Amino acid sequence: MSVLVAIVGRPNVGKSTLFNRLVGRRIALVDDTPGVTRDRREADGRIGDLRFKVLDTAGYEDVTDGSLEDRMRQQTEMAIRDADVILFMIDARAGVTPLDERFAQVLRKAGKAVHLVGNKAEGRGAEPGLVEAYRLGFGEPIALSAEHGLGLADLHAIVSEAV
Ligand code: GDP
Ligand code: MG
Repeated sequence: MSVLVAIVGRPNVGKSTLFNRLVGRRIALVDDTPGVTRDRREADGRIGDLRFKVLDTAGYEDVTDGSLEDRMRQQTEMAIRDADVILFMIDARAGVTPLDERFAQVLRKAGKAVHLVGNKAEGRGAEPGLVEAYRLGFGEPIALSAEHGLGLADLHAIVSEAV
């Protein structure tokens, strides 16, 4: 059975961009409009020699019933339940937002290891956000640039522990 890696976090941090990079196909929708990925997407992913399943989460903006908060919690809890590796993504350039804090609250109850990922970390604009990220309580953030393909070696190390 293959390991399932879930990417969770608030809209617009770059979850689908990472998903696309790991899957190598344009399956997930990426857009400048936050939260355009409409449903849960699962596909085969790889980093070098490492193969696994990857799960993209989103759809929070498309709520027709229930609050945004409810919907976020639902998707995140589903990912927590199913995943072997949980990647909690924030936008390192934006720093820690109140919505990130609320995700952190849900993830803290996971009872599974959560790996914090600071995306958009290309360039020095991400440094303050990466430092701020420690306060979420998940230890050292992995500095990543999903768009530029930076930090994948660190991600490889995390995923290979679970494979
Ligand atoms: P999602 O809502 O979390 O799935 O985020 P998306 O993957 O749709 O990305 C949201 C926006 O962030 C898009 O405009 C992406 O091009 C941009 N983005 C994603 N990854 C990076 C990155 O590593 N660096 C920068 N600068 N922008 C990124
Ligand atoms: Mg998305």
